[in-house]
Amino acid sequence: MDAQGNPGDFWKLEFAVQMTCKKCVLAVKSALQDVKGVQNVDVSLESESVVVETTLPASEVQKLLESTGRRAVLKGMGNVRSQNLGAAVAMLAGAGSLQGVVRFLQVSENTCIIDGTVDGLSPGLHGIHINEFGDLSMGCERCGGHYNPEGNSHGSPGQADSHVGDLGNISASDEGRATFRFENNRVKVWNIIGRSLVVDEGEDDLGRGSHHLSKVTGNSGKGLACGIIARSAGLFENAKQICSCDGITIWEERDFPIAGPERKKGHPTYAHL
Ligand code: ZN
Repeated sequence: MDAQGNPGDFWKLEFAVQMTCKKCVLAVKSALQDVKGVQNVDVSLESESVVVETTLPASEVQKLLESTGRRAVLKGMGNVRSQNLGAAVAMLAGAGSLQGVVRFLQVSENTCIIDGTVDGLSPGLHGIHINEFGDLSMGCERCGGHYNPEGNSHGSPGQADSHVGDLGNISASDEGRATFRFENNRVKVWNIIGRSLVVDEGEDDLGRGSHHLSKVTGNSGKGLACGIIARSAGLFENAKQICSCDGITIWEERDFPIAGPERKKGHPTYAHL
């Protein structure tokens, strides 16, 4: 369901799941059976992969898969229809333990699904925006304004007079984790590659506040975590090694932070450094 109560758009998620026997396959299937928002589940023992058609956030499907006692790693995402309209990912980094991963999938000409997890935030609401530039040379300070090709005022997503980059707020739990899945009709993956995604320190007032910055930025304070939006693999395009850049294999990936200095710690690839 989206904010208007319409049934959500389905997307297809491909997970690598450690499975060694037919019993494992049954356990995985039963973990996803009768779950609201899941319509098709395809489990392959041979390739240790599970493909799920769902309206749920990727993190929730992963949790369900891991409730069977197995590890699951998201390998790719795609359309339930056959065409590939593009996908992108932003790895967010900030001070301390602040980090996140946000995925963009264009499921139709009209709809882009934006799905992510951000860790290390203070509890509560934080503004999230696509900013104009992918320049992280000064932390989040050189990312420019909210992506705004139509010259509009700042607002909330879904509102006609708003920046295309206005994604609203994400809500962090008491543990500092925000997980979310938005369906956005104005963001197109092909227009945002090379730009940045920024999570702000405070709540975005969605242009409704009295502060002079309300109509420009939502008055949500400075950027805390940011990352460049890069093209990413679609469904079934990922090889066994999820990140050939640093040699961390798909199963090790689960135990390492997705970005930041901690990723390098203790990994054999970096033992000589
Ligand atoms: Zn804005």
